[in-house]
Amino acid sequence: MSILVLGGAGYIGSHTVDQLVNQGFDVAVVDSLITGHRAAVNTQARFYEGDIRDKDFMRTVFDQEDVEGVIHFAAFSIVPESMKAPLKYFDNNTYGMTALLEVMTEFDVKKIVFSSTAATYGEPRSIPIKETDPQIPTNPYGESKLMMETMMRWADKAYGIKFVALRYFNVAGAKADGSIGEDHHPETHLLPIVLQVAAGDRAELSIFGDDYETPDGTNVRDYVHVLDLADAHILAFKYLAAGNGSNAFNLGSSTGFSNMEIVKAARKVTGKAIPTQIAPRRAGDPSTLIAASDKARGTLGWQPKYDNIEAIIETAWNWHLSHPAGYADR
Ligand code: UDP
Repeated sequence: MSILVLGGAGYIGSHTVDQLVNQGFDVAVVDSLITGHRAAVNTQARFYEGDIRDKDFMRTVFDQEDVEGVIHFAAFSIVPESMKAPLKYFDNNTYGMTALLEVMTEFDVKKIVFSSTAATYGEPRSIPIKETDPQIPTNPYGESKLMMETMMRWADKAYGIKFVALRYFNVAGAKADGSIGEDHHPETHLLPIVLQVAAGDRAELSIFGDDYETPDGTNVRDYVHVLDLADAHILAFKYLAAGNGSNAFNLGSSTGFSNMEIVKAARKVTGKAIPTQIAPRRAGDPSTLIAASDKARGTLGWQPKYDNIEAIIETAWNWHLSHPAGYADR
């Protein structure tokens, strides 16, 4: 039986596909290639190009594959874009989940591991953020993902589809050999932009706000290595395969780094100056996001291997140096 990875040509999806294949799983990938990259998909996985909202297309995939369960990464994920184009997010992300759950029900597929996000919590009440904390998103991206969690909860009650929602904090890094990595168009994430500045592809980094209530005034985020995240998806899949019920887990390191601290660590790793300027706050940014991650460690047995921000940055820098234009397919 196969694991069907939706969005398997994206940044986190492609690292998870690679890890699944390396662990001997039979893997099929669906990706629309709107933001994904065909070259990012491990060649041992079968690839289907199409959109998860297209139920006829999805039925042909489920017809050809004996799907044991789904890992779902296929969503738009840029917070500032979602503030400007919320309906794009509710259509692709939220409606995409409706269509998927319908087809899963038709084919009697009862397991789904889902890419959720810390953005479902919104501005935290307390730090670190626990899975039981209120989920009150401050942007349409987070709202679209919270709605997807809610739909899975009711689909569990009605149809017995078991889910694990993995609420990611900030993901960074790349496979250690530099063969796959992060390549977004446009790039909006902090670390890849910092490394573009280090490489001389951009003149300087704009830091969005230095007047937050944090030790140095810049936002604090919790960074996890993409391969540790990939491991968590595989553990979550095994958790469902073992017959456990639906659940949600934070995936973070439980350590926060400010945007300025990330720049300093990147200067150390790259040996480059990385000029910065302070720019206005970015709409929808909570001031501090740090995960309580003991639940994933205790229940899933998750043990992140990268516990050091410089080691994470180094893998991203390797990827950037070997692929200065990313996959060069856009
Ligand atoms: N950020 C920044 N300059 C940039 C890109 C991002 O100062 O060019 C900040 C952003 O405001 C946030 C942090 O970096 O405080 C992480 O943002 P990112 O978009 O990487 O991830 P998010 O936390 O939104 O998921």
